[in-house]
Amino acid sequence: NLSKATDYLQHVYTVIEQRDPHQAEFLEAVHDFFQTMTPVFEQHPEYIDANILERLTEPERVIQFRVPWLDDAGHARVNRGFRVQFNSAIGPYKGGLRLHPSVNLSIVKFLGFEQIFKNALTGLPIGGGKGGSDFDPKGKSDNEIMRFCQSFMTELSKYIGLDTDVPAGDIGVGGREIGYLYGQYKRLRGADRGVLTGKGLSYGGSLARPEATGYGLAYYTDEMLKANDLSFKGQRVAISGAGNVAIYAIQKVTELGGKVITCSDSNGYVIDENGIDFETVKQIKEVERGRIKDYADRVASATYHEGSVWTAQLAYDIALPCATQNEIDGAKAKTLIANGTKAVAEGANMPSNPEAIAAYQAAGVLYGPAKAANAGGVAVSALEMSQNSMRLSWSFEEVDNHLKTIMQTIFAQSVAAADEYQVSGDYLSGANIAGFTKVADAMMAQGLV
Ligand code: GLU
Repeated sequence: NLSKATDYLQHVYTVIEQRDPHQAEFLEAVHDFFQTMTPVFEQHPEYIDANILERLTEPERVIQFRVPWLDDAGHARVNRGFRVQFNSAIGPYKGGLRLHPSVNLSIVKFLGFEQIFKNALTGLPIGGGKGGSDFDPKGKSDNEIMRFCQSFMTELSKYIGLDTDVPAGDIGVGGREIGYLYGQYKRLRGADRGVLTGKGLSYGGSLARPEATGYGLAYYTDEMLKANDLSFKGQRVAISGAGNVAIYAIQKVTELGGKVITCSDSNGYVIDENGIDFETVKQIKEVERGRIKDYADRVASATYHEGSVWTAQLAYDIALPCATQNEIDGAKAKTLIANGTKAVAEGANMPSNPEAIAAYQAAGVLYGPAKAANAGGVAVSALEMSQNSMRLSWSFEEVDNHLKTIMQTIFAQSVAAADEYQVSGDYLSGANIAGFTKVADAMMAQGLV
């Protein structure tokens, strides 16, 4: 069955590549995924007979729309909006909205594709989706953000619903934006609180949702380290990014005994040998909406450097990329390995490109892939949906305990799937296989959908 499996994987990849030759990020995500699928298709020819991969890689629905909005100078501006409803085999589409100038259909499709398996891994009944716009929030006033969000939701509201598609935040979309989006949804369609997650506490949000991705990343990494007789205690940790994921990863890693020595934004990074101070980063990024350079102006033990943190020669044991896709290429991965990294776990989506992953594997670096390691955010989003349906709210401790259990289960499931398919210790294959089999079996049970 080996050649049948590899032929099939190759065939489907070619079909996708011919269909969308310019969607580089989407093709990269699919390629990475297919590379881990051979053992599954060898053992399960029924998936080949059902042509499951061609079905799985084609979104159920792609929505693209115009987003007109008025800037503060009174000029009409236009951006492009997207929502990719990728797969609803196990539940309503679920996934964030990204506002960043790089957003295009390829990026939204790669994110939506990853989301399918990530969401399956949480064990909660959520399908995969993603959306966003090429709108650049940088330098926009609060009113401009609000007008953009209202216009974006005016169109998006036609396609979402608490049992069909439930968006949330991603890069450029936090509590403020979710508030404006929800306000507009409510004016148009009524107060269905469960239609968006990441809401403020006063109108149906969940405690621990802001913290969830960063905390979840720390819990997952802790499991991975423990399984290999390591821990965060006394370890030097390099984190990239300074957004929602990075901030709460800094907090939890520090609590677990690690020392976070860097964090970054798109301009540069700071090094703080005393350990990055969570409160200061949070104040700068969340309250003041400033740049990470401000950290070095404020903290005497810190220095600021332009460029990517992954080119810095700096000793650390654990790397947690929490910025964006493809932030680590092959050369940067080699630097990070030369710096002493024993483990990489991904807070961002697809931060390591294929050469980087190959470099980790060749060097025997433990590797926790994004769809497992950063699933805590969407997991708590699903818990927010549960609380909205029940019309009650759980305590911080209750949500945090659920989150911890979910991250432990994701790691255990990945280990078990890797063992079952004779790729023990390969947490990437394990996560892909565990997520895939759950979705594929749901699709098979529902007939040709
Ligand atoms: N954007 C986050 C992710 O990449 C969270 C999505 C959600 O909460 O729905 O998983």
